[in-house]
Amino acid sequence: MLPPPPFFLRKSLLSEWAIRYARRAVNEKKFPFSAVVAGAGISGATVAARLAAAGLRVLVLEAKAHAGGNCYDCRDAGTGILVHKYGTHIFHTDDKRAWDFLSRFTAWHPYFHKVLAQIDGALVPVPFNLNSVRRVFPPVLAARIEEKLLERFGFGARATILELRGSADADLRLLGDYVYEKVFLHYTLKQWGKTPEEIDPAVTARVPIFASRDDGYFRDRYQAIPREGYTALIGNMLAHPNIELRLNTPWEAARACVPAGTPIFFTGAIDEFFGFKFGELPYRSVSFEFVEYAREYFQPVACVNYPCHFDFTRIGEYKHFLGEKSPKTVVSFEYPAAFERGKNERCYPIANAETAALYARYADEARRAFPQTRFLGRLGDYKYYDMDKAVLRALDAAEEFLRAF
Ligand code: UDP
Repeated sequence: MLPPPPFFLRKSLLSEWAIRYARRAVNEKKFPFSAVVAGAGISGATVAARLAAAGLRVLVLEAKAHAGGNCYDCRDAGTGILVHKYGTHIFHTDDKRAWDFLSRFTAWHPYFHKVLAQIDGALVPVPFNLNSVRRVFPPVLAARIEEKLLERFGFGARATILELRGSADADLRLLGDYVYEKVFLHYTLKQWGKTPEEIDPAVTARVPIFASRDDGYFRDRYQAIPREGYTALIGNMLAHPNIELRLNTPWEAARACVPAGTPIFFTGAIDEFFGFKFGELPYRSVSFEFVEYAREYFQPVACVNYPCHFDFTRIGEYKHFLGEKSPKTVVSFEYPAAFERGKNERCYPIANAETAALYARYADEARRAFPQTRFLGRLGDYKYYDMDKAVLRALDAAEEFLRAF
């Protein structure tokens, strides 16, 4: 078994350490794990927890000094409020299997996400709904649009911005053009560096227009925040006697430790796994500026979007999530940027025909040359998964593996 590296070893020397112990472990047939999971984010933790529960010993390797991946949260030093270090995360799902699985590892704080957008000087509910219509249009026009929305789509239905802009009715087109200009265009330019037309329509379809008075951001049956936070949730998933977690252990440094033929669940970037041999898959990244304020609240809800102003896209105020009480508050300003290796984090895969073709080359190569390695998660599958979809994907991968084991 691999002893931990001496604490004085610099990260750059880790690979030397790993290779030395790998050789020894392999030679001495002391590799006691049935599977290796690279990455201790929500995908890796799900696989590890599922395999461990089935009685398999699992080695989890994590490059960072903490588990949790991009769900990582921790207490803000100044206020003690739990902050999400890689941006606001709200768990929401319609899938009972995902909900039940995670519920084994955490209690939940019920939380229904509401987002307001700063539009023409007002704070307006987003996704745009009948309340938003009343907020931004003069009463007579608002009443007419509302009536037409209900007539055309039915109460409670959702419409995409494309449907409204393509409508035969001038008032519905006006609404579509307004929402396009005030909510989507400039936000999307900041977030993706492209117009809504230039990105995958599935991305903007995440935020439709609702013919209802429900100001909620999501319509899912289950919506909540882990009561002790995401890091604690993922920590609980990994706290199984069959799981050994190695932090500060990048895959590249550790791969030589893993005997050939060991099943691997790889949740890191698939292009990096292959040394970028076909080229680099692009991502959008986000940097977060955390700011403390000596007042109780900064804004009325956890998330306020700024589609048309400033260089940041939104401000997240963390105390709203768990209803934390403090005379102070802490918020984060989100600045999107292109992902640059070594400089920032991979956050959002960029879906288009070109990246799909590049990803397909890596996926083919994976199937051909590494049949024992399963790639998953946002970075392994190169897919814009929400947390529940990442959990379901990882559960499926683990269960398929267990059936064949
Ligand atoms: N979007 C927008 N304006 C908004 C909110 C969202 O244009 O006020 C678009 C934008 O392109 C964004 C996408 O809708 O990337 C998906 O938004 P979501 O809130 O789901 O993004 P996430 O929370 O995953 O960053």
